[in-house]
Amino acid sequence: MFSVFYTFMINAQEIKKIEPTNWWIGMKNPKLQLMVYGKNIADKNIEISEKYIVLEKISKADNPNYIFIDLDLSNVKKAQKFDIHFKGSPKNLKYTYELKQRRSNSDNRIGFNSSDVIYLITPDRFANGNPKNDIHLEMKEKTMDRKHDYARHGGDIEGITNHLDYIYDMGFTAIWPTPVLTNDMSESSYHGYAMTDFYQVDPRFGTLDDYINLTKKAKEKGIKLIMDQVANHCGSEHWWMKDLPFKDWINYQEEFELDDLIVTNHRRTSNQDMYASQYDKNLMSKGWFVTAMPDLNQQNPFMANYIIQNSIWWIETLDLGGIRQDTYPYPDKYFMSNWAGAIMHEYPNFSIVGEEWSYNPLLVGYWQQGSNNKDGYKSNLRSTMDFPMQKAIVEGLSEEESWDTGLVKLYEGLANDFGYAKPMDIMAFLDNHDKDRVFTEFNEDIVLTKMALSYLLTLPRIPQIYYGTEILTENSKKPGDHGLIRSDFPGGWKGDKVNAFTGKGLTSDQLEMQFFLKKILNYRKTSDAIHNGKTIHFAPQNGIYVLFREMNDEVVVLIINKNKSPVNLDVKRFKEIGIDSKKLKNIISGEEIIWEGRIKLSSKGCILLTSKLK
Ligand code: CA
Repeated sequence: MFSVFYTFMINAQEIKKIEPTNWWIGMKNPKLQLMVYGKNIADKNIEISEKYIVLEKISKADNPNYIFIDLDLSNVKKAQKFDIHFKGSPKNLKYTYELKQRRSNSDNRIGFNSSDVIYLITPDRFANGNPKNDIHLEMKEKTMDRKHDYARHGGDIEGITNHLDYIYDMGFTAIWPTPVLTNDMSESSYHGYAMTDFYQVDPRFGTLDDYINLTKKAKEKGIKLIMDQVANHCGSEHWWMKDLPFKDWINYQEEFELDDLIVTNHRRTSNQDMYASQYDKNLMSKGWFVTAMPDLNQQNPFMANYIIQNSIWWIETLDLGGIRQDTYPYPDKYFMSNWAGAIMHEYPNFSIVGEEWSYNPLLVGYWQQGSNNKDGYKSNLRSTMDFPMQKAIVEGLSEEESWDTGLVKLYEGLANDFGYAKPMDIMAFLDNHDKDRVFTEFNEDIVLTKMALSYLLTLPRIPQIYYGTEILTENSKKPGDHGLIRSDFPGGWKGDKVNAFTGKGLTSDQLEMQFFLKKILNYRKTSDAIHNGKTIHFAPQNGIYVLFREMNDEVVVLIINKNKSPVNLDVKRFKEIGIDSKKLKNIISGEEIIWEGRIKLSSKGCILLTSKLK
């Protein structure tokens, strides 16, 4: 007991942090770089007595309170704890570091792919599983207020874990909660993108054990956990901001020290633009995202290692099924390629999706692995986000039909797939935590929302659906308002009058939408045609657009009809699909029809059919 206490005491006194906080044996890359933080730690002589743990290099920073230790673990065969000695006046220090055993098959983990449908959750707004962790007085934002859009509402990790049954029953196979690491910021800390500690779960969201438990419970149900990570920036209250290790740890650090913050120009095309000035390129990648988010300098090799090891640490610790990387075009793009490359080297079947918020398919395609880029840029990123398709769907379904408006936008939007290295690895969505709710985008038109969802879920893509879409959540009172876009999921708080988890208090429209989505999602779960099948679509005619997915014996047919009065669809045009005279089943209603002659479409809407009758 005494020795444990003694070790804790000296650690607390002088070695404030060692990160990564632990590591694993048996990684493909046997190198590990530790960042040690403690007062004048650079003055110490560092020793490790275990011979098979090779101390390769010790690097000083500009600031004597940091030291970086490079280890080679190639010869370490067993999980173990070992001591790192820091010798020198005023006294010798010791830190016990742990090398853990990896889970079996950790390197072969399968990331999310086109067989999945991702449920995007804003954790502060989904469910409050533990009201005791809502307020932490030691943190800068000390209040919670459910009536305030930008305040904390008390939702947490346990809230997600408690409702995994609901998520599973709906038919989702992956969850992407927005970040839950510590954001000790004085306001708007609920969103999670201003991290003040990259190794700590925000106590208002729960503990590391809660997070590990979430993945474990999710995995038992076949649900993958995707972690939202940020390599571009931290929060201005990050612990290292008051004592930075290097003169170039963050970008525009000198200006920051003079209280002159330089913000990015958001000119994301400068990453690809052959004519872009160096001035614009620098400002784009080095300028701060916003004044509360310092821009990390990934050209500093210690920062680069820090970020890569942090990502891998979370994959191993949480047993992740994927990473979503925020603001992908904002960090140094060559670093991002190395970052994704290092992860994919350790986990070849893993998935990472990067956020490039552009409606231009050329930019979305540029970042995907396998893209034949003119500047020779090789991305190691498997998945990108389909903002162009999101826009095409909203516009195409809302607009009146004409030669170049309406359904033709869906048709031509999908035709752009010829430019992508691998369309089915791209994540598609109708809205997310930064965009107006899709129901609001469609002026609260349920039929259009159903059309959009049925299209999204049959495309050769990885679909992502934002929590609440299934119950027609809207933000129509204040379009563009982020706090409102991230509103509370009814039933997530004790005393909620409406409970979307049980259906209590939902309107008939909401229940119907929930049922509709549940039917498609649960069909999609086992549909090889949708996961990996061939896609054939026919140019829209007379306000009707038809898309087929097929694989082996399974054919899925989606008919989107914008005609308000009854029309007949002559199936002659679709002969090449080879389903003439075949019996097909409506995936939503279960009703069976014969695919021949003219199919009567009685009202505006969508029909989803399958050749799988059982
Ligand atoms: Ca809570």
